[in-house]
Amino acid sequence: MDMREGTELRTASKETNSIDEIKYELALAYRIMANEGVVDTFGHVSARHPERPDRYFMSRSRAPELVEPNDLVEYDLDSVPVSPSNLAPYSERVIHGEIYKARPDVMAVCHHHAEAFMPLIVTKRDYVPVVHLGSVGGQDLPWWDQRAKFGDTNYLVVNPEEGASLAEALGDKMMVLMNRHGVTVAGTSLIDLTFRCVYSCRNAEFQRLAELSGEIDPLSQGDVDAGSSDGGMTTGHMRAWEHWTVRLQKDNWLPPRP
Ligand SMILES: [Zn+2]
Repeated sequence: MDMREGTELRTASKETNSIDEIKYELALAYRIMANEGVVDTFGHVSARHPERPDRYFMSRSRAPELVEPNDLVEYDLDSVPVSPSNLAPYSERVIHGEIYKARPDVMAVCHHHAEAFMPLIVTKRDYVPVVHLGSVGGQDLPWWDQRAKFGDTNYLVVNPEEGASLAEALGDKMMVLMNRHGVTVAGTSLIDLTFRCVYSCRNAEFQRLAELSGEIDPLSQGDVDAGSSDGGMTTGHMRAWEHWTVRLQKDNWLPPRP
């Protein structure tokens, strides 16, 4: 057995704060999000710097399934690289920088166009938690319409003003729905973010399929509050992270160590 396997499979935790570990877990989160259907060629994930809250890490412009620690670039909150880099960046990185600026509690961000969500997005139907794990997405989520705010658009969020407007729409929620575009999700850690992304996608799919079958009996606000009150680590979070990691390991597709 590879001596590193135990390390690869260890679960992310709040105690994870070494820069190398955060970078490895961010690369792992990219691959998990791809493997679980949250992102495809597009979509991106970032993590706030564990020691410098005014900085964050994000991959160079690359398909999430391929991201490795050496692809990660360190940005300030204006989404400018801290060190000169010739790696092409994601054009939408301001989404991340502006949310970190507006929300000190947010430690990780994902922007995606997951297939599970797109029927809701294009019909402007609200996300409704229909099963208990769907509570992680929250209730009464805000919408953000780039065209209504800034005129006709290619729907890429590239200017700081656009990123700040999106962050303002997010408010104190953990997800914001983007008309004709996708979803942006916040997390209190990388694993919290990944759990929220994966299970809100599952819920969105259940919601959509259930609407075809009959009337939905959704969670109440109290149910959602009870199900999402613990923003920290739970055994469920760790069980999920280990499960997602072993699924990559079976395909021999864990990110390489630098
Ligand atoms: Zn996008």
